[in-house]
Amino acid sequence: MSNIIDGKSFAADLRTSLAAKVSILKKEHQLTPGLAVILVGEDPASEVYVRNKAKQTLEVGMKSVEHKLDASTGESELLALVESLNQDETIHGILVQLPLPDHIDEAKVLNAIHYEKDVDGFHLTNVGLLSTGGLGVVPCTPLGCIMMLKDRLGSLSGKNAVVVGRSNIVGKPMANLLLQESCTVTIAHSRTQNLADVCRAADILVAAVGRPEMIPGDWVKPGAAVIDVGINRIERDGKNKLVGDVDFASAAEVAGAITPVPGGVGPMTIACLLHNTVQQACRQHKVAMPE
Ligand code: NDP
Repeated sequence: MSNIIDGKSFAADLRTSLAAKVSILKKEHQLTPGLAVILVGEDPASEVYVRNKAKQTLEVGMKSVEHKLDASTGESELLALVESLNQDETIHGILVQLPLPDHIDEAKVLNAIHYEKDVDGFHLTNVGLLSTGGLGVVPCTPLGCIMMLKDRLGSLSGKNAVVVGRSNIVGKPMANLLLQESCTVTIAHSRTQNLADVCRAADILVAAVGRPEMIPGDWVKPGAAVIDVGINRIERDGKNKLVGDVDFASAAEVAGAITPVPGGVGPMTIACLLHNTVQQACRQHKVAMPE
């Protein structure tokens, strides 16, 4: 088996299995999971993300609603839209595309989404549920990482896991998920001493930093599983290129398993958003997620 974890094909399989679940929910429970995405402003990268989300939502048979608001939209207008979607019974997941314009309080908006319609796992209730091992919703990117790790390694119990990065959207939830799988978890960050040695002790190394190729192959323990969350745009040989936080060429020579960039963690993020929406729809309607 290749040591490369193909996130693109893993995500395609996840979408196929979600489409089958959605079809069962429609037939047996007259339930069509619905996702609403709100975009404020005209950030080109965000527009691409939102378009891809809507396309994939429809492809698995779900309902997709997009709300594109002007960059000058006020906070109270945005909060009113969130509240109307909270009340809308055909919508089971609400996603507010980040970043929001500076005049809007991001935390206030994210916490205005009902926690049972939160599909990003950013609502404080879901953050609390994740850290206490409760039944909440897990942020999409770390969820995709843990799915790929479990698929490749089976049980993660007892493994030394190092997460480089401590953000609320990737590093911290990733560390919590690894802890739930009974790993011994170290969280490293910009103040960590001897980062190379910390990384070399990892059976599972997750890089979520945002610095192009900062982790070379000789920081990777032979046979370790390496999950590269980083997405960095660089210019090389006169061309624009996407690279991760790990130096893929040298790390792939020693790693037992490794995700490439692009084609690793990235494609899993939207697939997990769809998974979270189906899961929230099932919870709201008190039906079991189809097998
Ligand atoms: P943040 O900028 O919020 O966090 C970066 C983290 O890296 C911080 O905790 C920071 O430490 C740490 N860090 C910075 N420099 C160093 C260093 N030299 N050594 C060790 N740690 C360091 O980023 P995000 O978590 O939001 O994203 C991380 C990367 O993942 C980005 O490239 C982003 O584009 C990508 N990403 C990819 C997604 C996907 O779908 N694949 C989704 C989300 C993000 P400190 O806290 O001390 O400052």
